[in-house]
Amino acid sequence: MKIYDVIILGGGFVGPIISNKLIKKSNIIIEKSSNLGGNCRSKQLDNIIYDTGGPHIIFSKSDGILMDFKKALGQNFHELYRDAYIDLYGGIKFPYENGIAEADIEIRKKFIKSLINSRLNESISKKDFQNLGDFFEFNFGEMACKDYFFPYNEKIWNMSIKDLDYSWTKGRVQTLPIDKLVDNAFGDYSDGNKHQANFLYPKEGGIQALANSFKPSGEIVFNETCKTIKKNKDSNLWELQLESGEFISGKHLISTIPFIDVLNALSPVREDLVQMVREIKYNSLLTFMFAWEKTGSSVKIPLAIYNPDLSDDYHRLTSINYLSETMVPDNYEAVIIEKTIPMGFENSLDIEVEKDNAWNVVQKLIKQKLGEPKLYDSHFSEMAYVVNTSENTKIKELILGEIEKEGILCCGRLGRFEYINMDQAYDQASKLADQINEIIG
Ligand SMILES: Cc1cc2nc3c(=O)[nH]c(=O)nc-3n(C[C@H](O)[C@H](O)[C@H](O)COP(=O)(O)OP(=O)(O)OC[C@H]3O[C@@H](n4cnc5c(N)ncnc54)[C@H](O)[C@@H]3O)c2cc1C
Repeated sequence: MKIYDVIILGGGFVGPIISNKLIKKSNIIIEKSSNLGGNCRSKQLDNIIYDTGGPHIIFSKSDGILMDFKKALGQNFHELYRDAYIDLYGGIKFPYENGIAEADIEIRKKFIKSLINSRLNESISKKDFQNLGDFFEFNFGEMACKDYFFPYNEKIWNMSIKDLDYSWTKGRVQTLPIDKLVDNAFGDYSDGNKHQANFLYPKEGGIQALANSFKPSGEIVFNETCKTIKKNKDSNLWELQLESGEFISGKHLISTIPFIDVLNALSPVREDLVQMVREIKYNSLLTFMFAWEKTGSSVKIPLAIYNPDLSDDYHRLTSINYLSETMVPDNYEAVIIEKTIPMGFENSLDIEVEKDNAWNVVQKLIKQKLGEPKLYDSHFSEMAYVVNTSENTKIKELILGEIEKEGILCCGRLGRFEYINMDQAYDQASKLADQINEIIG
């Protein structure tokens, strides 16, 4: 049986980065699917390239991480402005608190009055928020919540805003004082969260180009998962049996895969945790890519259009042409449209019905009648979204603690059940690789 220094479960975004940063350590990635990249994969279809796990843009508050991403991409990136809109009040700029300046004066007046009322509302003004709804209500007022923040977030998360935890908003959603919000409503604003106003994107190859730029330093096994995971107390080595029946062993075991897959393989079985892990809620994601021929009357589509309308499920449309012209032939327009799917509903999806619904929403959002799309594709990303309820957080902390007590090192969005972007995922992966480099020497 071959002994590796490190075994990495999952070859999504973080798995290959960890492997890339291990210095002279024998390592192997076990990946369930037939490619690396996980949610950061891109697919080519008839000269159109699209990000299958939803469009991924590169941004970070950390200059160091951005620099590492730029270095990894070499010349293959460009910087773009986040030209996004919300399909509300006839179309306003994203984020809402800036875009409100483009709305009718009566709407702006209502926004300011409701904002003042929220800030005066004793029950939520103590900043002791109970849930994501309280957070938004205090920060943006009742009207903004009713029109945009509640419906849009309920579409993304597939549950009531009052059941969602607000801790993930830290550093992601800017909280502004009331005078700044009033300035914003009259058009005197800077561009929202500075680190998100502009972003990077690969010129060629879609977001997968970023994932691919971190070449794993060891071996990779595709279309494999582990059947059993066991720690040999005598040798202190991890012994894994793969689904194919093959055995491998390693000094360190890193998991970037869902808790449930680790616990189902762990031997001896931790029945207590297996029961508990079933309570954890994830959401999956359905994406459609549609392409059609441009005509003389085609209007330019912005980077993204957010859709808070609860009468349809699709929440965001993104222009692939905007991300990079190299991903779409000159005479074509191509977009991605996304919808969240709650766990357990994937088998009841009728892709043909979904395709028609999604295509109707595309035409509604870009305000054009287009006939039939020339090309389309769909992709289902299982467990794409970690769901932030306080109940989930409690269970997650307990399970993560127990898995780590077993000696398994957890990393990444699925591995730690954290709602993190690529920059934070990269940071976790780099730190973990450094830690192992130091331990093994
Ligand atoms: C809709 C959406 C939009 C996003 N947009 C952005 C964005 O614009 N910018 C940004 O910075 N970040 C964005 N992100 C976040 C980004 O996708 C994640 O930070 C990143 O993918 C995390 O990488 P990971 O390796 O932890 O997880 P993943 O990329 O999900 O990789 C997990 C890997 O594990 C594999 N796997 C699963 N189970 C097993 C098993 N049992 N055995 C072996 N392998 C297994 C999977 O096949 C996958 O390859 C977005 C995420 C989503 C869902």
